[in-house]
Amino acid sequence: MTALPCPPRAQGAPCLRVAVVGSGPAGLYTAEALVQQAAYVAVDVLERLPTPYGLVRYGVAPDHPSIRSIADYLRRVLEHPRVRFLGGLRLGGEVTREMLLSCYDAVVYATGAARDRTLGVPGEDLPGSAAAADFVRWYCGHPDVDPAMFGLGARAVAVIGAGNVALDVARVLARPAADFGATDVPEPVLAALAASRVEEVHVISRRGPAQARFTTRELRELGELPGVDVTVEAARGELDGDAPAGDAGGPAAPDRRVRGNLAVLADWAGRERRGGPRRVSVRFWRRPVEILGTGRVSALRLERTVPAEPGRAVGTGVYEVLPVQLVLRSVGYRSVPLAGVPFDARRAVVPNAEGRVLDADGRPRPGEYVVGWLKRGPFGVIGTNRADAAQTVRALLADRAPGAVPAHRPDPAAPPLADQLAARGVRPVTYAEWLGIDESEHRSAAVLGRGDRVKLSGWEALNTASGHRPGAAR
Ligand code: NAP
Repeated sequence: MTALPCPPRAQGAPCLRVAVVGSGPAGLYTAEALVQQAAYVAVDVLERLPTPYGLVRYGVAPDHPSIRSIADYLRRVLEHPRVRFLGGLRLGGEVTREMLLSCYDAVVYATGAARDRTLGVPGEDLPGSAAAADFVRWYCGHPDVDPAMFGLGARAVAVIGAGNVALDVARVLARPAADFGATDVPEPVLAALAASRVEEVHVISRRGPAQARFTTRELRELGELPGVDVTVEAARGELDGDAPAGDAGGPAAPDRRVRGNLAVLADWAGRERRGGPRRVSVRFWRRPVEILGTGRVSALRLERTVPAEPGRAVGTGVYEVLPVQLVLRSVGYRSVPLAGVPFDARRAVVPNAEGRVLDADGRPRPGEYVVGWLKRGPFGVIGTNRADAAQTVRALLADRAPGAVPAHRPDPAAPPLADQLAARGVRPVTYAEWLGIDESEHRSAAVLGRGDRVKLSGWEALNTASGHRPGAAR
């Protein structure tokens, strides 16, 4: 594996080699912006998994094929002649920050937000209490999650949080299993969904309808599922446009998203029950205080809340117990620190100015940049990463513009990354090997008569399909 060929710069200066760490939307939009904004850049996209696309593959719900199809666009980025995919490389494991800085002109961190946030309430570790993030990874077939992790023997499920992940999870739990037959969910997930005993899904929000973080399209979709009754518990007057909204506590009416959400919720509040086999109830102004159960979750204790100063909610001392056998916390994600890279533990982001990584004194760290959720926190839809990546790339290229004195230069004596990896017995997963997995998933769908792709589940299946043999440098 030699370095990518790189066309000479107009003035005859050498080309710019950039390592992007992470092949999710943030990383691939960065690679795209780099090759689009400068003809003299070559990009290596490093990825921990043997599969590219990050949350597009392992975060987007299977019944959202149009969002999944962003992978078709990102594929064109990966197949650009000046972009290369190097899978199976974990920063802080097979590859280190120091190795990258020794042989690249710049390194862009795009590792996202890999952890879920916790509630910090008693009972959170009981069997039957899990992170929604794990449930998402489960139905998306992430190789780190045991396909048997969710048996779906629960009749009632609580999903805690009022964001789009909570909506995804509630929808996947409520939707008839037959709807997933033509999606890419792995076979064991389809079997578990088909055997699901779930009848009731409660979505629990610690604040009111006007403060919920749902987007309207996703909220509306929940009310359109066949055989599913949706109900909403909200106080009188809360579902009209004059309700105080948002974190600033101003009226809801001017905010289009909030107005749309209130209209959807008001429609649900006025609906007759149709008596379908499954129900989803959205319960506002309640916060979880304890997950109850002996050996396994049997109920959730909630405290009623009321609005306090603008944007906040406080407990009232009034409690209720909701019988549930599965609790999924969906209260946001958290980035994890990368070895040797500055990290703001309070905000869980890499401190940065327009994507330039800042050290403890607030000075840019030469040659190091950040994009995506690791840069700005776990907010925004996939498309948000495009403008975000473009900003970081502008900063990176400005630091390298003719006339600017580059503050970081790779070590001329350092061997290329391939040689450094080979010395450690590591051979990256190639793009061709990923295509082996891709083809195998398409074949599987054809054999099973299930849509366009059926995800392989588990590391062994991925390794077999890729044919990757670690350590054998070539
Ligand atoms: P989110 O939008 O930040 O929602 C988190 C929810 O958890 C909020 O309702 C928050 O309430 C609540 N929460 C936080 N701490 C809590 C606690 N201790 N107790 C009770 N509730 C708590 O996060 P997300 O749903 O994980 O989504 C992350 C991002 O991905 C969002 O930008 C989302 O739009 C995006 N996404 C988009 C799609 C899509 O477009 N289809 C799908 C999935 C995700 P407060 O507001 O009171 O803090």
